[in-house]
Amino acid sequence: MDLSYGNDSHGAWQTYLAQIDRVAPYLTHLSDYINTLKRPKRCLIVDVPIVMDDGTIQHFEGYRVQHNLSRGPGKGGIRYHPDVDLNEVMALSAWMTIKSAVVNLPFGGAKGGVRVDPSKLSKRELERLTRRFTAEISPIIGPQKDIPAPDVGTNGSIMGWMMDTYSSSVGYTVTGVVTGKPIHLGGSLGRVKATGRGVFITGRHIANRINLPIHGAKVAVQGFGNVGSEAALLFADAGAIVTWVQDHSGTIYNENGLDLPKLVQHVAEHRGVKGFADAQVADDEDFWDASVEIMIPAALESQITVDRAQRLKAKIVLEGANGPTLPAADDVLVERNIVVVPDVICNAGGVTVSYFEWVQDMASYFWTEEEINERLDKLLIQAINDVWSSAEEHQCTLRTAAYILACERILEARQERGIYPG
Ligand code: GLU
Repeated sequence: MDLSYGNDSHGAWQTYLAQIDRVAPYLTHLSDYINTLKRPKRCLIVDVPIVMDDGTIQHFEGYRVQHNLSRGPGKGGIRYHPDVDLNEVMALSAWMTIKSAVVNLPFGGAKGGVRVDPSKLSKRELERLTRRFTAEISPIIGPQKDIPAPDVGTNGSIMGWMMDTYSSSVGYTVTGVVTGKPIHLGGSLGRVKATGRGVFITGRHIANRINLPIHGAKVAVQGFGNVGSEAALLFADAGAIVTWVQDHSGTIYNENGLDLPKLVQHVAEHRGVKGFADAQVADDEDFWDASVEIMIPAALESQITVDRAQRLKAKIVLEGANGPTLPAADDVLVERNIVVVPDVICNAGGVTVSYFEWVQDMASYFWTEEEINERLDKLLIQAINDVWSSAEEHQCTLRTAAYILACERILEARQERGIYPG
């Protein structure tokens, strides 16, 4: 199926700018500083040449964008995907700025990526690509400057290579330069599952608020990677029935509920849901007509278009992905009384545990998984409650409410720091 990003008219950066325009009227005197958020602070484009296993040399284009550093070092993942471009990385970095501020983490926002299909590289090629990319962006990253993490197409092993490459260049081990690392290299317990867990925690909380029972609710999930699969498992544990799953390989459904542990196993072996035995196959577009109460887009940007928003049956949309809903589709969902738990809080569990990982690395003292999950639950519940109250106060959507909270925090910092030189 086509999980591509849509055409230029709804590029991810345009989506982000439309979101900022919607929040501006609520910011009173701080709106004088709004242009700070409409342009990234720093964009680095790098050429990444690597020697392939057959001896030829291939060049890949890589990026690291630091959108805003007013509240602390840059923070955000590295994406390996064939559609990565500057427009997308800029948007993803900006959403990190907003996300860190909504949860009140002491970070700015950044993001990086390489335009590459990682499934087409051997393990050694992937390692060479990662090490050369890290060397190219190393002038602007560092534990006090900008801290990468996994995103679509990257994982713990890749973070381990990044940490090792950066450490080799400075001459000592710097665990805190990236998060999402393997446990033995200063990684945090609970990090891998944290994003999916956050989708569940925030989703359940808002479902309770709108009197939508989880027990017996039907769920559709787009994307069955790290985020979608964990969220699906947690909803199923809470009594929901996951009936539809779609990923890059196809769309499957079982109205009695998919056997998730078996599906996880199948995806690990076959790299996609296609061919799963205990389900029926559907056309990809039919996914958006699924008769479910909960819809979880947990793949890529620009998936919920106006047309799909008009067809959705769900009562609540949980944005596990970054930027899955186009601004015009957001309006349709409001009209149709479908509640959206926005990405900047819904998928913030990952960066929150990344923050815990960075703190643990700084202190060289590590917490138990129970401690991590307890702290994660507490921070996310605090943040989602703040967002809910802000939405009530301003009579706006949860997305605009989250942006109000975040933009106030970022622009207060901007104002107090002042403009250099004065
Ligand atoms: N890539 C994840 C996100 O989009 C995590 C970023 C991080 O942990 O820094 O939120």
